[in-house]
Amino acid sequence: MTLAPTSFARTYFDWNATAPLRPVAKAAMIAALDLVGNPSSVHAEGRKARALVNEAREAVAALVGAASADVVFMSGATEANATVMAGGWDTIFTSEMEHESVLHAAKASHARIVEIAVGSDGVIDPGTIADEVMCGHQPLGRALITLQHANNETGIVQPVANVAAFARAHGIATHTDAVQTCGRIAVDVDTLGIDYLSLSAHKLGGPKGIGALILRNGAPLPNLLIGGGQERRRRAGTENIPGIAGFAAAAVAAKAEIATIDRQRRLRDHLEHQIRTMTSTATIIGRDVERLPNTTCLALPGCSAETLVIKLDLAGFAVSAGSACSSGKVGSSHVLRAIGVRPDLARAAVRISIGSSTTDDDIARFLSTWTELTRTVAKAA
Ligand code: PMP
Repeated sequence: MTLAPTSFARTYFDWNATAPLRPVAKAAMIAALDLVGNPSSVHAEGRKARALVNEAREAVAALVGAASADVVFMSGATEANATVMAGGWDTIFTSEMEHESVLHAAKASHARIVEIAVGSDGVIDPGTIADEVMCGHQPLGRALITLQHANNETGIVQPVANVAAFARAHGIATHTDAVQTCGRIAVDVDTLGIDYLSLSAHKLGGPKGIGALILRNGAPLPNLLIGGGQERRRRAGTENIPGIAGFAAAAVAAKAEIATIDRQRRLRDHLEHQIRTMTSTATIIGRDVERLPNTTCLALPGCSAETLVIKLDLAGFAVSAGSACSSGKVGSSHVLRAIGVRPDLARAAVRISIGSSTTDDDIARFLSTWTELTRTVAKAA
């Protein structure tokens, strides 16, 4: 399939959906395509492929402060999340604003689901967990708390370390989906104190279709894929060597970049400040709580998100409405609903997510387009 060339410059503001592939990751993948061997083979070709996987495991482990033996490569965070949810839990604590890959897998398991309440600020209320643990009438059995580190739509960061400390004291296992935080804010498995952590390469400039589940302290894992003994018998199937190579190169680059993330925060804050100055009715979801430094979830009452996304697309800007994970979906966002955002505001919410190559100029051009668009929308209203 050939794609029609775009005749004008595009500005990509949808890094939370997927980040552009880093040149270092692309180079590592291209080089890996030339590796002949299967990492399970004992000959020299096989050992070379095995060495690549081992080195990559070290790089991914270093990104989150884990031991390399605790990294299990998978096809992405969807698989990592599904694997944890399939762990035979009796009880799973989860909130309605988790990513669908967590929510649907938790609901498809045989576990009793305990809903963690979400405050109107977008942060969970840990009291709901404590109430169930201390005063619940049903036994918890083997219990898991799954709590995203930061939300893909709003960027709101959750108190994962506090929840994990409470869970540990009560013998409850913990999982966090850290897909959106890795490479953006410091993520360390020991500081977080969780048992399972999901990662996806394409959110940090690696390729799509590869990710990892990080385990801590020998946390048990069900085998969703059985067959060969790959990944220390934890995930069968010949390793995706180019994907793993690209993931590792992106992990190294992303780790180094965390120190420069304030540049993105400055650009994002400037964008928000200018938008609020120009359009006083604009609401920024999660403005008063800790958020990812690259994300703005913005609603302009009276203007449908779908219209705004299309108009911005035509003007050369890629942004998304609600969650852009399922193709073409522009529906009401389950995340904003969980936070209790008014339906008219939720229908107007667009997400702008920037990244390491976003420039001052990109933001300035976006702001002038925004001024134009909102003027037309105001006229039409
Ligand atoms: N969790 C979150 C928070 C995400 O944003 C995504 C990707 N949209 C996923 C999980 C799924 O990751 P993957 O694409 O690697 O399956």
